[in-house]
Amino acid sequence: MATSTLDELRAAVRGTVIGAGDPGYDEARRVYNGMIDRKPQAVIRCAGTEDVVAAVNYARENGLDLSIRGGGHSVPGFGTNDGGIVIDLSQMTAVKVDPQARTARAQGGATWGMFNDAAHEHGLATTGGIISTTGVGGLTLGGGIGYLTRGFGLSCDNLIGAEVVTADGKVVHASEKEHDDLFWALRGGGGNFGVVTAFEFRLHPVENIYGGPMFFELDAIGDVLRTYREVIADAPRELGAFPAFQIAPPLPFIPENRHGDTFIAIVSCWAGDPKKGPDAVKAFRDIAPVVAEHVDVMPYPAINSAFDALVPAGLQHYWKANFVKELTDEAIEAHAEHGPKVPYVSSTMHIYPINGAVHDVTPGATAFAYRDANFATVIAGMWENPADNAANTQWVKDYYAATAPHSEEGGYINFMAGDDQDRIKANYKDNYTRLAQVKKAYDPGNLFHMNQNIRPA
Ligand SMILES: Cc1cc2nc3c(=O)[nH]c(=O)nc-3n(C[C@H](O)[C@H](O)[C@H](O)COP(=O)(O)OP(=O)(O)OC[C@H]3O[C@@H](n4cnc5c(N)ncnc54)[C@H](O)[C@@H]3O)c2cc1C
Repeated sequence: MATSTLDELRAAVRGTVIGAGDPGYDEARRVYNGMIDRKPQAVIRCAGTEDVVAAVNYARENGLDLSIRGGGHSVPGFGTNDGGIVIDLSQMTAVKVDPQARTARAQGGATWGMFNDAAHEHGLATTGGIISTTGVGGLTLGGGIGYLTRGFGLSCDNLIGAEVVTADGKVVHASEKEHDDLFWALRGGGGNFGVVTAFEFRLHPVENIYGGPMFFELDAIGDVLRTYREVIADAPRELGAFPAFQIAPPLPFIPENRHGDTFIAIVSCWAGDPKKGPDAVKAFRDIAPVVAEHVDVMPYPAINSAFDALVPAGLQHYWKANFVKELTDEAIEAHAEHGPKVPYVSSTMHIYPINGAVHDVTPGATAFAYRDANFATVIAGMWENPADNAANTQWVKDYYAATAPHSEEGGYINFMAGDDQDRIKANYKDNYTRLAQVKKAYDPGNLFHMNQNIRPA
């Protein structure tokens, strides 16, 4: 059915079309980053793949900007736009697990919390992010870094298939065997190639983990970062861990008189036999006196929601990111200068390890190119008051300027800002040419451009 007007689109879809003036429009146009205030012509809350097809066709035929929104966490706010169409997948969240095959199929709008809970019922998991409200969609398509990365690779390394609505409104299945070039591009290339209505993942036996945060005084920064660098270089792959600068939130495990003080923390997650957990993190616990810790055995989904309360929807966000091969002493000095200035309890800097299983995959095997980097850093500015935007954005920029000279040119697309478009080629190194070709094959008109954009060539 041709849907050249919004009313025709309303009549054609099973889901809801929310246009300007409709009840709930202001809520529907909002994304997670409170700094973003855009007014699309309509948000299509899709009920299924056919609705996605109708919305893609409508946007293309009318020459409108088109945003895809899964979990809505995009820091540059790619999940909304001015005057165009938003494909909102928040009603498409089913996760079906096949425990025998150790696979899971998640609809395009599922969050990691939903995914982890469904897989955990069978004692299974795959690599996802560290916050449960983040979307499976955006995170996986950009790569996907989390606690299990060293053991099982990136989220996209665990992707075995995807149902995709392409720019011409066709529904295709991409895997190693069908549309293999599209499948290659989906694994790291972001939302450039179509709307993924279902993701199929490989799962692994992970039920309970041993982990959580340990807080150290700031005078231990050098020791913490140097020890982390040494330990994580060849720790067993069951160990995921990252250092973080963190203002102490008012939580019971932190002495009350230290709430609001800034610390360097190590957050760890031992996904092997939980009884071996204390030994696995001993090298961290021995670095310096631990001021506070909440490290224990817990279900895997629990560590993936442990920090949710620190990052509620609606905060102001500005982030910068780099890949890093070696965490040099000079880089550690830069962290020691800027990390302690972290301005707000929700803001942080993390150094995620991307060695281990990530290095088992060759740089050309998927779109995610930085298989020779050992770390992905993110300087994540998140705060409540818009009046602090200038000062807190400046903290991120200054920190980034100081650490970038000790980093690779590219960074992880999912941690980057809207002003990082000129770094796209660097993010993909030798894979960029092939990405541009696949883009030309599947989206020659660049319909899917509300993203870290790869232009068709
Ligand atoms: C609080 C917070 C914590 C985070 N933690 C992590 C982490 O631990 N590890 C990590 O790797 N990243 C993390 N990120 C970054 C995260 O991966 C990106 O923000 C990602 O884009 C979020 O995906 P989403 O679906 O929630 O976002 P959305 O804003 O919904 O989507 C972002 C973009 O992804 C694409 N997209 C999303 N879904 C689809 C789909 N179904 N089909 C096609 N394209 C789609 C679109 O281009 C869209 O514009 C975090 C972000 C936040 C804000």
